[in-house]
Amino acid sequence: MLVRLLLTALLLGAATGCRRGPEVVYLTAFEGVTPAQVTMVQRAIGAFYGRSVRLLPVQRHRPASLCPVRHRHRARLVLEQLQALLPDSTDGKILALTTRDVEIEEGPRRPHWGVFGLANELGGNAGVVSTFRLQGRADRLRKVSLHEIGHLLSLPHCRSGLATCVMQDARGRGATVDRTRARLCADCRARLAW
Ligand SMILES: [Zn+2]
Ligand SMILES: [Zn+2]
Repeated sequence: MLVRLLLTALLLGAATGCRRGPEVVYLTAFEGVTPAQVTMVQRAIGAFYGRSVRLLPVQRHRPASLCPVRHRHRARLVLEQLQALLPDSTDGKILALTTRDVEIEEGPRRPHWGVFGLANELGGNAGVVSTFRLQGRADRLRKVSLHEIGHLLSLPHCRSGLATCVMQDARGRGATVDRTRARLCADCRARLAW
């Protein structure tokens, strides 16, 4: 009986996985990001979310996305640029890595709010991760990338209070990212399976 229950649970788990849809994650980088960083993030996303991660050619930032106030690239315009790279026929997601500072123009705390990363919306199709504020730390780049892909897969910020969940809102603090592990808490994992 126990075996049958376990088997049923496993099958349900597999079915739930199927409902997540066939999305492919496309990964690209703007000039300046190293191939080693791209490969590291590609492998991390593939292993963590079990998605196929396809690389797109290296991109250039458009001068028009640069905000003259703090000389940061406006995330909204960067994300629009990325969305245009998605093949028409796909329901895929795209993530880009950049070395440039990226801002939310109408920031939640103040205007021209510099961020580690941003996704266009929960369940959206475009995200960007900036290494500018990550102090060259590969572990931070990996965790922020997994966090933004989590948003694209409909995960909100973690509400479990568990500091180690990768979906914690970093609020611009590297120390918060450092406390997280490259894993989801049980609550966030259950949400991902919806
Ligand atoms: Zn969580
Ligand atoms: Zn977030």
